[in-house]
Amino acid sequence: MLPNMHQAEPIPDAARAALDRLLSSGDLFRYTAPQDSEVALLEREFAALMGTRYALAVSSCSAALFLSLAALGLRPGARVLLPGFTFAAVPSSVVHAGCVPVLCEVGDSLRIDMDDFAARLPGCDAVIISHMRGHTSDMDAIMRLCDRAGVPVVEDAAHSLGTTWHGRQIGTLGRVGCFSFQSYKLVNAGEGGILITDDAELVARAIILSGAYEHNWRKHMAGADAALEAAFARWQNRLPLYNLRLSNLSAAIIRSQLPEIPRRVRDGRRNHDRVAARIGTSPWIVVPPALGPELRAPDSLQFQLPELDAAAIAAFAAEAEAMGVAVQVFGLSADNARAFWNWQFLDAVPELPLTRAMLMKTCDTRLPARLTEVECDAVADVLVAAAERVMGQPRAYGT
Ligand SMILES: *Cc1c(COP(=O)(O)O)cnc(C)c1O
Repeated sequence: MLPNMHQAEPIPDAARAALDRLLSSGDLFRYTAPQDSEVALLEREFAALMGTRYALAVSSCSAALFLSLAALGLRPGARVLLPGFTFAAVPSSVVHAGCVPVLCEVGDSLRIDMDDFAARLPGCDAVIISHMRGHTSDMDAIMRLCDRAGVPVVEDAAHSLGTTWHGRQIGTLGRVGCFSFQSYKLVNAGEGGILITDDAELVARAIILSGAYEHNWRKHMAGADAALEAAFARWQNRLPLYNLRLSNLSAAIIRSQLPEIPRRVRDGRRNHDRVAARIGTSPWIVVPPALGPELRAPDSLQFQLPELDAAAIAAFAAEAEAMGVAVQVFGLSADNARAFWNWQFLDAVPELPLTRAMLMKTCDTRLPARLTEVECDAVADVLVAAAERVMGQPRAYGT
């Protein structure tokens, strides 16, 4: 029996009591209560979960990325290096911050091509590492290069909540990490985002920019913090207010799901690894392996069919769809927001041959953590059967 891969998990019952309270009191704005609003509690809990000093909850991950760049104080026209495989909202956040996106290549491994990254880094003022679909690039090499060049790294960890690198949480490796609570991510509030950092100056600026007008920044102080207080005093009245705040309703929905994260991570990984192993027995299907230090928290599956040309890949996707499993090939659908050549809002869309080749052949299917193992096997069997229908029955190599 094939599952509905687009169906969300129900929001935990724990949210209902909090939402009822908010609806009765009408207390939906984070700065109405003198302290401990749902948003403030979420920030405290999320920072504790990630082991960082500060968190700022905002309206989306894209808003968090924009605020990170704005809080870094980059000059207008500053160059921001980011991977050519990401979601259109990520280069958009760079444009929104008045900076210039510089794209680097992403290879068949779905990870940043480190030679190209190193070649493009000189002259860049900041880096956004987009862990696209939860895939982690070589963060050891990236942090080494960026630290040596004195270039701050913003992690776009929108889709990487729960992923670790050498046992450390993704989103805590760079200067600032940004997460999404949009419905397709591990924690679903419809919309929402959060940034985490240990940098008092950066978070003070981001808090004011996000819309902490007058002295509302006081409601971000969880206790005595001289560095943070001094930073707020420095930036009071000196930054524009973009009003990208989160509402208490969203925060209550997010808070109710924080205890679910370990289970979702565990089940997502189990499902991914089970389907990857099963489709890996097909002679036509390859699942790009993770790098050694990465332990993923996937809720989707990416794979390639190296023997198939573009027409055969399109036929494969159509066969899988007819059998009940939706497969997207990033580069084959019109106007796909993850294909860099569609980012025509950029002043100049560069050519990235490695990234283009990867996008033209990489298949993407959702694989929610709530699927059972039986459902996962059914999904895998459809993918294997679709490849066989297009390529004929598998033969032993060498015959
Ligand atoms: C979803 C996603 C975003 C955008 O997040 P929003 O909260 O919708 O703004 C950015 N980057 C990646 C890698 C994503 O998966």
